[in-house]
Amino acid sequence: MENGSSYFPNVDKITDELVRSFGRPSLGNRPDPFEELLYIILSSRTPPNNYSTAFESLLRQFPDHDDLGSARIEDVSDAIKLGGLQHKKASYIIESSAKLNKLFGTVTLEPLRKMTRDEVEKLLTSLPGISLKTARCVMVYSLDIPVFPVDVHCFRVSKRLGWAKEGEKLTDKNVNKLQASIPEKYRKDLHVGMIMLSRTYCTPKSPKCESCPIVLYCPTGRINTKNSIND
Ligand code: SF4
Repeated sequence: MENGSSYFPNVDKITDELVRSFGRPSLGNRPDPFEELLYIILSSRTPPNNYSTAFESLLRQFPDHDDLGSARIEDVSDAIKLGGLQHKKASYIIESSAKLNKLFGTVTLEPLRKMTRDEVEKLLTSLPGISLKTARCVMVYSLDIPVFPVDVHCFRVSKRLGWAKEGEKLTDKNVNKLQASIPEKYRKDLHVGMIMLSRTYCTPKSPKCESCPIVLYCPTGRINTKNSIND
């Protein structure tokens, strides 16, 4: 437990069911933490196919990460334009790269492997445009740090599971509360499972509760299907 909080009921069974249903799929994430940072920046408010293509295009045009710190915004924008919001994303990429170059003498996040979890989170969220969610994606996917990134999809599933209140906003305080109620060993699998669930069953409108793999543990699903865990 963290900060004296207790864990969510059935969090172990829910995680197991999600792993059984979806496995442990790669969502295209990268082992190199700097490339993962680029990947997550490009994924913001963009369909998966588009941000994957934008990412490949960026690496093709800038094979040496060090060149990104001094790149022209027009060139980076052009490389990632398929993903949309290219001007804003390009400025985050260039400014973050320049800051890393200043800190480490090269554009890299490898030195973070030797830092504590708090130091890593603090450094990542100090980079231009990097939210707590983006930082935690980099941490869990490429640095193997057991955190629980919460995006709108994970938050929707969490609310339907009764883990967050209906009117709650996606604030750092609320995502920290969620994370503290999930044991470290389940966080990555649960995050990936929730992403998969949100794309397949727990969609924003008309969730497919009757066939959802975790309906037995979901109060919303039980109401929607009139099932009960005790039936
Ligand atoms: S049972 Fe329904 S509401 Fe609950 S997680 Fe599954 S799809 Fe979402």
